Formats: sequence, C-alpha cells, structure tokens
Amino acid sequence: MKQAYDLHSHTTVSDGTLTPEELVKKAIDDKFHAIAITDHDNIDGIKRAQKAAEDSNLEIITGVEISVEYQPGTLHMCGYFMDLNNDFLNDRLNFVQEARRQRNPKIVKKLNDAGFDMTMAEVEDVAGSKQVGRPHFATVMVDKGYVKTKQEAFDKYLDKSASCYVNKERLSLEDSVKAIKTAGGIPVLAHPIQLGLANKKEYRDMFVHLKNMGVMGIEAFTSRQTDEENSLFYQMAKELDMLITGGSDFHGANKPNVKLGHFGSEVKVNFPALIKEMKGICKKI
Ligand code: AMP
Ligand code: ZN
Ligand code: FE
Ligand code: FE
Repeated sequence: MKQAYDLHSHTTVSDGTLTPEELVKKAIDDKFHAIAITDHDNIDGIKRAQKAAEDSNLEIITGVEISVEYQPGTLHMCGYFMDLNNDFLNDRLNFVQEARRQRNPKIVKKLNDAGFDMTMAEVEDVAGSKQVGRPHFATVMVDKGYVKTKQEAFDKYLDKSASCYVNKERLSLEDSVKAIKTAGGIPVLAHPIQLGLANKKEYRDMFVHLKNMGVMGIEAFTSRQTDEENSLFYQMAKELDMLITGGSDFHGANKPNVKLGHFGSEVKVNFPALIKEMKGICKKI
C-alpha cells in the first residue's frame, strides 16, 4: 500500500539517482503530502528541495541519515527537524564527509588490484555530485561490464564482508545523537533489521540501550523489512513508548525495487499526528 508520506529518501546529494528538485517533482506528481530527505551524512539537498516545493502543498521535512560506529551489522541514525545552520551538526557532518573522501580512493585501489580498470574520476562522474558512495562504484562496475547487476558488485566486492571493502571512520552513537539533538532535531533508528542481531531479546535490549542514549524513535516500517519484522519492531517501540516512523529508503534507480511511499502493507503510522508530535518535541528541545 502506498502512503502519501515517506520519512526516508535519498537524492543525488548522497547515493540516490534523482536530484532534490527531481524528487520533489516526483512527490508532487504522485500527490505526496510530506517527505523527509535523509541523505547519507549530508544536508545539502534540503534547502534545494524546500525551494522546489515552495509553490506546492508538499511539505519537505529536514532530515539526514548518519552512519554510526557499530559491529557487526549497520547502524544508521536518521535525524529530523534539525536547524540546518547549527555549527556542531555541520562540524560533525563535515568530519564524516571527509572520512568518506579519504576512503573512496582506497576502494578504487583495491578494485584496481583485483584487476578492474577504473578511476576515481569515473566514479565521481556517475555520482553527479561531490559525495561518492559505494552504489556509485557498483554502477561503474555494471557500466564497464565487470558485473551484471549492482547487487552482484556488492555481494562480490563492496559489501562489508566482501573483498574490496574499506572501512570509513564514523560517528559514535553518542556523537550522532548529540549532533542531531544539539541542532534541535529528533534522532530515530533507521531500518532496525540492519543491526543484524540474533533474536528478539537482543533487539529489545538494543532498543532500551538506544532509548537510554537519547534516541527518540524507531523506523519500524521500512521497505528493508518484511511485514512481520515491521510489526515486531512496531510492538517493541510501542512498548518502550518511543516514536514510531516509517519510510521507504528510496534511492531511485540505485535501488530499483524500492518505491517512494512503499514500506509495508500494514503501516500503522498516523503521519499527520506523528509530524505534529515531532514538531512539538522540537520546540521544547
Ligand atoms: P557508503 O555510505 O558509501 O558506505 O554506502 C552505503 C550505501 O551502500 C547504502 O545506500 C547501502 O544501502 C548500500 N549498500 C551497502 N551494503 C549493501 C549491500 N550488501 N547490497 C546493496 N547495497 C548495499
Ligand atoms: Zn544509500
Ligand atoms: Fe540506511
Ligand atoms: Fe537510507
């Protein structure tokens, strides 16, 4: 079922394939009421999107998705309604953007060593913006015929467990929460399933830990999870009295199966009420 709201989307500012302006146009054409733009470690698309939505009824919610230091899985922290001009937030985002710039040539080197001919310039070219992410490496590998699909590029070379993976410095959990909250925003754990924990108890304990660390919400509804998983995380977040959000994690052609506004068939989020509640919380922070 398609929602008229989506609190998780990417543009060319990170590793989506639509520009902020194109994403806004799509959301207006598809009659969305509100979308959050949550580019990886970067808020440069927000003002552009808000400007593009100016003469429409579409609300653009300020967002970001920060990669957090975490083992063995992946912990992504979304932030909503931050002050874009906050110095501490911008300083922390600059730090992780620099870490990414340090990492990327190392991936090129590993791929070269593995026998693939490619340059950083070629990867930057497909990125179409200053910020390069692993999906852009995957695109170059497909374009050059080294792999059939982007997924194959991840599975064989780019995934955390694969041969050409290079780690990058990330923010600690504490710092990610602090960066978002210092800027007056709301930290929300993205796609919990990617934590890669073993069972329900581990997830529940982790949610309690996150709540104690200042995380305020759980993205229980996401295209990255099955309906059963969505429902499980919804129940857990509800019992812990945390905010419950939902989003598709739209990346355009970089994740062709993920559609804007689609994140499960049993989405139990009243978005107008949620957005109002979040705005109320931000006023108090
Ligand atoms: P980066 O931030 O540059 O490390 O790249 C992260 C991006 O790569 C995110 O959009 C992820 O969804 C994507 N990604 C990471 N691992 C995989 C995987 N195994 N398969 C497909 N996409 C992945
Ligand atoms: Zn991404
Ligand atoms: Fe993510
Ligand atoms: Fe995402």
